[in-house]
Amino acid sequence: MTERIDCVVVGAGVVGLAVARAQALRGLETLVLEAAEAIGTGISSRNSEVIHGGMYYPAGSAKARLCVRGRSLLYTYCEAHGVEFRRCGKLIVAGAASEQPALVQLARNGRANGVTELELLSAAQARTLEPQLACEAALWSPASGIVDVHGLMNALQADLQAAGGEVVLRCPLLGGRLTADGLRLQIGGAEPVEVLAAVVVNSAGLGAQEVARSLGAPQRSIPRRFLAKGNYFTLQGLAPFSRLIYPLPERAGLGIHLTLDLAGQARFGPDVEWTERLDYAVAPERAQHFYGAIRRYWPALPEGALRPGYAGIRPKLHGPDGKAADFVIQGPAEHGIAGLVNLYGIESPGLTSALAIAEQVCTMV
Ligand SMILES: Cc1cc2nc3c(=O)[nH]c(=O)nc-3n(C[C@H](O)[C@H](O)[C@H](O)COP(=O)(O)OP(=O)(O)OC[C@H]3O[C@@H](n4cnc5c(N)ncnc54)[C@H](O)[C@@H]3O)c2cc1C
Repeated sequence: MTERIDCVVVGAGVVGLAVARAQALRGLETLVLEAAEAIGTGISSRNSEVIHGGMYYPAGSAKARLCVRGRSLLYTYCEAHGVEFRRCGKLIVAGAASEQPALVQLARNGRANGVTELELLSAAQARTLEPQLACEAALWSPASGIVDVHGLMNALQADLQAAGGEVVLRCPLLGGRLTADGLRLQIGGAEPVEVLAAVVVNSAGLGAQEVARSLGAPQRSIPRRFLAKGNYFTLQGLAPFSRLIYPLPERAGLGIHLTLDLAGQARFGPDVEWTERLDYAVAPERAQHFYGAIRRYWPALPEGALRPGYAGIRPKLHGPDGKAADFVIQGPAEHGIAGLVNLYGIESPGLTSALAIAEQVCTMV
């Protein structure tokens, strides 16, 4: 007999776990399907672990709204659940006088998005905070921070389980069809099974388009996926800064920035490498570009101090020449399949926004 379940979430990354937790707390019997052997092995374990302020995204966009709301929910959640985080703040720097108008514009955009604590600093003021910093001016965002993503995902999973939900590993969604009784899903793994779900949330990250196709979503509703790899290099030796340091954002990324992990180790990245493959190797020769970019704000970076780190792949909805895209959160009104929500293009600030995305999904189905 086919088992019936209220809600199936496809993908146990930070967003899928946040959605599943929220659905379970509403009283829905919730199951998370994860193809991999563990939770959080996709994009969620290959990022900068930064809690973003929310100043980069166009006013009125889903990214702006969900980042600002998600940040506030995330700090509160981490405090209440003992998830490690640090509100260390971020300095975005203008490396040349010609970049100052862009910094002012970023501050204006941030305030329009509801990021209230931003402060424009002179070079001297910025150097009082970070003596090794080279810049013409800086934007100080005290609300930005860092978080232990794996600690966060473990806490979300624990909440889900306490509310009666479950994550099943090595169980890929193979496909499904809408029937009169709900979505009939085929699940792979050691013992393939079929379940009937009233609600399905496709939070498969890089696999979202494939999952939507396998559920019969019309092709015209599925945005094309582009892959933008982000490589990181780690710093040998002590971190020169105690706050996050970012250059001005670029077309497809936030520029090669310095982030810190909770142990205080510094890493630089991610850069933007458009690719067609899910290949996570970091080519050592990319370091050359990193040295140049980092020395614009940290001239004292010693030669030979960078080591290849790790890489993540952004699930972009635009190519190298396209206009930056927003998160796409599609309900039945967009694709015509009752009970299904598809999440596409959940790149940065998806980690920061996870709890707010979960809130929104709950209002849709
Ligand atoms: C380089 C980089 C840096 C970033 N930095 C930041 C940052 O500092 N701050 C921030 O807020 N955001 C950041 N982000 C964005 C953030 O990491 C992502 O938005 C977030 O992790 C996405 O989570 P997710 O759950 O949607 O996807 P994922 O973590 O990829 O989870 C999707 C899961 O679905 C599973 N799956 C796929 N297909 C199937 C299937 N058929 N059946 C079952 N399971 C399936 C996968 O195995 C995977 O575990 C960054 C992203 C990148 C790439």
